[in-house]
Amino acid sequence: MEVSRYAPSTTGSAHPGTLLAGLLCWLDARSRGARLLLRLEDLDPQRSRPELARAMRDDLLWLGLDFDEVSFQSDASAAHREAMEALAARGLVYPCRCSRAELRAQGERAADGGFRYPNRCRARDLAEATPSDALRVRVPAGTIRVQDESGADLSQDVESAFGDPIVRRRDGGVSYHLASVVDDARAGVTRVVRGRDLATTTATQVALRTLLEAGPDPVYRHHLLLLERRGDKLAKLHGSVSLAELRDRYDAPSLCGVLAHAAGLADTVDPVTPPELLADFSWSRVREADRVLDWDGRSLLDLD
Ligand SMILES: [Zn+2]
Repeated sequence: MEVSRYAPSTTGSAHPGTLLAGLLCWLDARSRGARLLLRLEDLDPQRSRPELARAMRDDLLWLGLDFDEVSFQSDASAAHREAMEALAARGLVYPCRCSRAELRAQGERAADGGFRYPNRCRARDLAEATPSDALRVRVPAGTIRVQDESGADLSQDVESAFGDPIVRRRDGGVSYHLASVVDDARAGVTRVVRGRDLATTTATQVALRTLLEAGPDPVYRHHLLLLERRGDKLAKLHGSVSLAELRDRYDAPSLCGVLAHAAGLADTVDPVTPPELLADFSWSRVREADRVLDWDGRSLLDLD
């Protein structure tokens, strides 16, 4: 049986983009009869709070999305640590103290617009690690081959596109990439459906999965994002409207109608429920291009 997961980070409240991503993941899973997991990614010690995780789950349920299982990523800490120790035992992990400022000063851009890590500390021995060092894992040289289900080629030379990924952060927490790969493998996830802002890091996750010998890769499907104008730039639709405001203004089918229209699944913004959208759901009907929305204080409006 296929297994899919929706794995929002709980460092903030849900926003329209979170709900759209949840809706597309739900439609994909339910249209295939896949088992669907909700994994609340609550590993950020500064910003993740239990009430945010609960609110995220409630907002998704409010929209009409149901899940076969709900889990908190922090509950799998022991498995994350074991995975890191397994990589360390094979001599693949090394300590790194390079700061973000140093990487910025180096000026080499990574594939996601951040700054590349030039693998500077590779020769350092894990035995000299201090608790405040980050730990990185040596990725294999050469191109990691990954194909998105849509046909997009996500293949990448991770070593040069990003550099070695962090597996333990300087605050001691396990990194997002390692936790995500370990959790997917443990849950037997076969489909990963998510926003295309994560597409450039797919090869890093595939490389980690290979190093962990964590079984076959899932199928990846990346989809459009909801954007907003911020000054003269476009950014993910986050800041301008809270879900509390939206829930004041819209009932669930009305907001679902706006999201379905934004994604290309409906010709109008008429109210609709997720099960009603299921009848003729197909990825060929989902709009490819990102959608720019504007919150005018009362409604979400399409700007394109
Ligand atoms: Zn370093």
